[in-house]
Amino acid sequence: MPLPKIIRKTINLFLPDTCVLCRMVVNEATPHLCCRHCWSALPRFDTQCRHCGRPLPSNLTSELICGACQTKPLTVGLTIAPLVYRDDAVNLVHALKFSNSVRAARTLSCALSERILSTATRLPEVMIPTPISWRRHFRRGYNQCDRLTHELASTLGIEVRYALHRKHGRVQHGNSRSVREAQPTNVFTVTDTDLPSHIALVDDVITTGTTMRNMSNTLMRAGAKRVDLWAPCRASSDF
Ligand SMILES: [Zn+2]
Ligand SMILES: [Zn+2]
Repeated sequence: MPLPKIIRKTINLFLPDTCVLCRMVVNEATPHLCCRHCWSALPRFDTQCRHCGRPLPSNLTSELICGACQTKPLTVGLTIAPLVYRDDAVNLVHALKFSNSVRAARTLSCALSERILSTATRLPEVMIPTPISWRRHFRRGYNQCDRLTHELASTLGIEVRYALHRKHGRVQHGNSRSVREAQPTNVFTVTDTDLPSHIALVDDVITTGTTMRNMSNTLMRAGAKRVDLWAPCRASSDF
């Protein structure tokens, strides 16, 4: 239940809301926790391929599918990744990933849910956070995708389910495209015997899409009919 306005104003006198990015005091609390300038300055894609999220020329209006996806689509569903992975989008992901920032998770999930609600005509039955191996979870203490997925759930009201298990493997962060694409395809296993037909996978950043493709294929083999890929950020080009 939201606090009454008079109480919020009193609290704000002593603990003013600050922008998650520039730390400037903001007069009115916003769901995305940014000042107006930082929120509008976040780098956003304009026109993207519906299957992989690659940027496309903005004059395209009909079939938004890139050349690569016309032969080998990344997913059978939609890929939604609104922010270009640069500048403050990188700062937010790093704050979430390496400092467990709940505020950064909120900002990233707001950018993502805003695009989901304006793009998706049908929402999935469940969301699955991209799993990390138990060793990495033990060392880091949390899974940043889990944090992000729960923030999304509070906005979209979609069930969060832990239906995938990830075997321990090499960290992909910072690896080149060729190294990422060489990762084994059996990294993930399905732990849920009652999968719904329409699922969204949630990650923090889509780079080459190899990890998400592997997860999506694993879920399809286990009986899912459609898998959407959701992440707040996507690399502007494949590297
Ligand atoms: Zn700001
Ligand atoms: Zn594509």
